Amino acid sequence: MDKLTKIVATIGPSCDSPEMIEKLILAGVNIFRFNFKHNILEWHGDRIQRVNKISEKLGVPVGTLIDLQGPEIRINMSVDQITVKEYDLLSFGEGQDLSISHPQIIQHLTIGQKILADSGSFSFTVEKKDGKTYLRSQSSGILKNKKALNIPGADFPFPVMVDRDFEGLKIASLNEIDFVALSFVRTADDIRVVRSEMKKYKVNARLIAKIETEKSLKNLDEIIDVSDGIMVARGDLGVELPLEEVPYYQKIIIKKSIKKGIPVITATQMLESMIEKPFPTRAEVSDIANATYDLTDAVMLSGETATGAHPVEAVKVMSKTLAFNELKNMVDSRKRFDFQVADQNATLCDAAYGLYLAYRNQNKKIAGFLAFTHAGNTVRLLSRYRPLVPIFAFDPTDTISDSLTIQYGVIPFSFKSSLKKTEVEKEDILRAVAFLKKKSLTKKGDILIVLHGEYWAAEGKTSTVKILKVE
Ligand code: ATP
Ligand code: MG
Repeated sequence: MDKLTKIVATIGPSCDSPEMIEKLILAGVNIFRFNFKHNILEWHGDRIQRVNKISEKLGVPVGTLIDLQGPEIRINMSVDQITVKEYDLLSFGEGQDLSISHPQIIQHLTIGQKILADSGSFSFTVEKKDGKTYLRSQSSGILKNKKALNIPGADFPFPVMVDRDFEGLKIASLNEIDFVALSFVRTADDIRVVRSEMKKYKVNARLIAKIETEKSLKNLDEIIDVSDGIMVARGDLGVELPLEEVPYYQKIIIKKSIKKGIPVITATQMLESMIEKPFPTRAEVSDIANATYDLTDAVMLSGETATGAHPVEAVKVMSKTLAFNELKNMVDSRKRFDFQVADQNATLCDAAYGLYLAYRNQNKKIAGFLAFTHAGNTVRLLSRYRPLVPIFAFDPTDTISDSLTIQYGVIPFSFKSSLKKTEVEKEDILRAVAFLKKKSLTKKGDILIVLHGEYWAAEGKTSTVKILKVE
């Protein structure tokens, strides 16, 4: 796969057979997303193992991401659906016409407040009479149970995790999970709470904040500060915000995440029409291309792969669109982002990128970066510059390799140091180069930029940048 931007694919009944999983990986999927909101949790546990087995068989690191519901408000009625007509007045509360997963918030609603349901297909305004709360409907249709409810600008205290999320963490602790994404994040504290729960459940994964509420946009900087990654969750963001504002915030969120050096996923409806049709619309292809011009780390497929009729075709369209457009992105990231270069690793990465640019400006080709990394930090610091060549990352464990699957441009490999030696030596570098040659990822005459430290297993101690001509 010669694309640099990563693809996250949501797994579902359309693509969960071993054959399909393999096909999707070969077509360009780097991470599978398990949306714990759907299906029984055993189903997910089983498929997580399936993905990990196939990744091992293919010798390709593939990430696994579980998506937790978090503080999402859902309709919770005793009936499967109700018919709603414009101007209807529904009583709102436990045991009433309409009730929700967190009834304790109803008392905080104010008269005239807007409430949306089922991705904005239904809208209501709050009314109060004799101490009771009502919803005046502004739409007609059949409202189904369990659909999501959005209260734009909501600012009520209710717990960050639901029971099913705890069950989800249990499943995660029994399987190899690389990323946990939290829906409906409101504040940095939400992230802190989930992080400490993950610790309790011994889930060693990187935590991604899904930005999809108005409140999370207000608190964006502090959320970015405590998260390991960000998702631009355009689905609910487009319900909570006026839809026309979403593209602007997509750019802001991506830019801030890159500046901080954490990976960012752009999600939702990227190839929505391919759920049914075998080909995309022009606008969808443009959307994917524009996400690469925004310099996102990854793009995501939801229903396209989970329940769609053409999951492999969708991934192929994505891969092709990324591969072509990302190479047109001739930016100097240092000017675009004004990165903080705070420590030794960051300084070395800045120098390595400078070398790469110096070659590029002379129209000479660098074939890629070869980086030895202990915990992945050097590689993340390099990836944020978005060079237009791969970063081959040699790290000590499959866990680190998998955690790098989300990162723009990074092709990770688990690699053991030479036996009994503590110093990184020339022969180690040559061994890594030989490995890349065997995989046809580099060839004689190529120029690579190598980054490493003096010693194996030393975090934050990258000390050397050098130019290596492949023999
Ligand atoms: P979210 O708002 O969290 O993105 P969603 O309901 O839009 O949730 P997606 O994860 O985008 O769901 O998936 C798209 C559709 O695919 C879902 O509406 C659901 O019908 C189906 N789906 C997803 N995962 C599964 C699964 N594991 N089993 C069965 N169906 C699934
Ligand atoms: Mg959502």
